[in-house]
Amino acid sequence: MSNDMMRPVEEHARLVADLIAPTEPDLVPLEHAVGRALATDVRAPLPLPLFDNSAMDGYAVRVADIVSVPVSLPVTTDIPAGRVDVPRLEPGTAHRIMTGALMPEGADAVIPVESTDGDAHLVRIDEVPAVGAHLRRAGVDVEAGQVVLPTGVTVGASQVGLAAALGMVELEVRRPLRIAVLSTGTELVAPGNGVQPGQVYESNSIMLATALREAGSLVDTVHFVHDDVAHFRAAFAELVDHDLVVTSGGVSAGTHEVVKQALTGCGVEFAKVAMQPGMPQGAGTYEGVPVVTLPGNPVSSLVSFEVFLRPAIRAAMGHRNTQRRQVTAELAESLDAPARKRQFRRGYLDPRQGTVSLAGPPGSHFLSWLAGADCLIDVPEEATHLKRGELVTVWLLGP
Ligand code: AMP
Ligand code: MG
Repeated sequence: MSNDMMRPVEEHARLVADLIAPTEPDLVPLEHAVGRALATDVRAPLPLPLFDNSAMDGYAVRVADIVSVPVSLPVTTDIPAGRVDVPRLEPGTAHRIMTGALMPEGADAVIPVESTDGDAHLVRIDEVPAVGAHLRRAGVDVEAGQVVLPTGVTVGASQVGLAAALGMVELEVRRPLRIAVLSTGTELVAPGNGVQPGQVYESNSIMLATALREAGSLVDTVHFVHDDVAHFRAAFAELVDHDLVVTSGGVSAGTHEVVKQALTGCGVEFAKVAMQPGMPQGAGTYEGVPVVTLPGNPVSSLVSFEVFLRPAIRAAMGHRNTQRRQVTAELAESLDAPARKRQFRRGYLDPRQGTVSLAGPPGSHFLSWLAGADCLIDVPEEATHLKRGELVTVWLLGP
């Protein structure tokens, strides 16, 4: 098949994305919302700060009482953080106040303790304050009713922190997809058992399951089967309660391509995609379940996940951030690439220099180079040679 007849990467990516239905909203406790996408805009039920409070340990004063320094003021009371019965500040006096404590009525500035002699009864003040100095006004950070987190934001530490600060205990987030992974290959043996020449340890299912989980989905079934259509179909029948089945292997041009043989003409379409690694791909619906079939070579499998599956499942789970972070970097060395195929090389980014170097050769069995790399170098379809110093787009990998 000539390259001209291959399916462009973007077209296959669209097909995969269109297969997977969006998940529903789910009201969950804050700690369960982490890693999920917000299903709605979050509006602040309260302002932040909740009340005018001191930004420093020091003294609450009236600016009008401090026209020249040094000046000494009697200290009426102590206001630690958490005190709720704070008396009004009378003219010509000071209150000792701690960071986060409620500002007394009548006070309009805080003198930091460092600008005083620190006395508890009669404090000497060495600094003329401006109105509002060292105090945090109610609502300067968040006004009540304001949208603080928009739909689609992925909930993480700072988002649950903000929600808790606003007194919230739950967030409405999108349900994660439930995905099953099914690897194929008669040569495969589960790690922990002995292997004979001709057999290999099965590594794609745990690799893909981990990648799918890191992208926010639930992977609750991982299987592998021999290259036998009846076995494959029987294993598949057990997985039909999932939102998506991801298979590995059995989709190339050999004579024992079990996935292709079992699914061709049954709702799944197989195609050559103009990409390296990861040319043989398939996608469709079988037994009412969306299926994405990835090639078996470990590097092809994981690169295919990055290019097709990760953006598609993140979109289906409502994340506004569906793509890996991409940066432009200078190639630290030249590279050759296949004509009319988009190539994804593994790389190391040096973020200080803004350069990227190659992690190993292009072959799709170099698993150790993949494990060491921190990015994919996205080599455009039309490029056949890129010189050192040319600019490329780099996809940053990592959990
Ligand atoms: P396939 O796509 O089935 O033709 O497999 C291509 C290559 O990837 C072969 O060398 C397989 O042994 C290897 N391979 C396929 N599936 C797996 C797997 N689940 N774990 C490890 N290697 C695999
Ligand atoms: Mg195989």
